[in-house]
Amino acid sequence: SKPPPVAHYNLNNVTITSNPIEHGENILILTPMARFYQGYWDNLLKLSYPHELITLGFILPKNKEGNAATTELQKQIARTQKSGPEKDRFKSIIILRQDFDPPLPSQDEGERHKMQNQKARRSAMAKARNSLLFTTLGPSTSWVLWLDADIIESPPTLIQDLALHDKPLIAANCFQRYFNTEKKKMDERPYDFNNWQDSPTAQELASKMGPDDILLEGYADMATYRALMAYMPTIDGGTDIHQEVPLDGVGGTALLVKADVHRDGAMFPAFPFYHLIETEGFAKMAKRLGWQASGLPNYKVYHYNE
Ligand code: GDP
Ligand code: MN
Repeated sequence: SKPPPVAHYNLNNVTITSNPIEHGENILILTPMARFYQGYWDNLLKLSYPHELITLGFILPKNKEGNAATTELQKQIARTQKSGPEKDRFKSIIILRQDFDPPLPSQDEGERHKMQNQKARRSAMAKARNSLLFTTLGPSTSWVLWLDADIIESPPTLIQDLALHDKPLIAANCFQRYFNTEKKKMDERPYDFNNWQDSPTAQELASKMGPDDILLEGYADMATYRALMAYMPTIDGGTDIHQEVPLDGVGGTALLVKADVHRDGAMFPAFPFYHLIETEGFAKMAKRLGWQASGLPNYKVYHYNE
């Protein structure tokens, strides 16, 4: 009998360019998912990037909520991959179940965002993202799109629009729609405060912290005076969707990363790394490896409103 074939991959042939469709570049879309939202799935289906170049990877917690989300996700996958139109079908789909002990309790928005819950929560999220990344990144992956499961509005051209900038890491600006009771109409507000430019105040705070302490963004008790991308859109009227800004911290709501950044070893620290964890720590680690993060303040995606 013949010996098993050896698969050779020349990473130099895996291009990562600003025109990924023309070069047939493979995209890995990674989503940690605690709850299933139809809007998220519908937008995946509407992505105009060729679906035969897209692999989807999910990690879901092993709790009641995670079980329900897995059931719903599998139902949608079966519909798309088996009975749906051929052009909608993705190259492959991987679902992981989190096996950490103990699992994070499921939390509503208010509970999740309490400062005292942040360190444990974000540390668990970091591990979930790393598990997902390290089990799915393949030799032919050019780009990794981190897309949260509660992003329910995003443009069909999301991948092409972000890749066009040819940046190692590039974040869209995550907003949330809500009913403005004063204006008595629908309005929008910034949601993701993890996309920021560093400040001397934050540096000063960090320098006085213990080795296990972390800086958090978006809390009055910890005024960092960082420049938040969430508050940048109004500066120029928000018209130029391709306006770029450099970032020192990023969120994971809608973040496109060149696969080489992850291949170099940049991941999501579950421990304080320069007093930063998870996605913000990832931006810092990427920077230490020579990769600068960027953001598009006027390029918006929308988070579900609980
Ligand atoms: P927030 O929007 O910053 O409050 O963070 P989320 O709670 O929305 O979490 C970010 C992403 O991770 C979302 O896509 C969630 O569905 C998902 N998520 C939240 N908690 C867990 C968890 O315990 N395990 C996994 N695998 N995913 C989770
Ligand atoms: Mn969220």
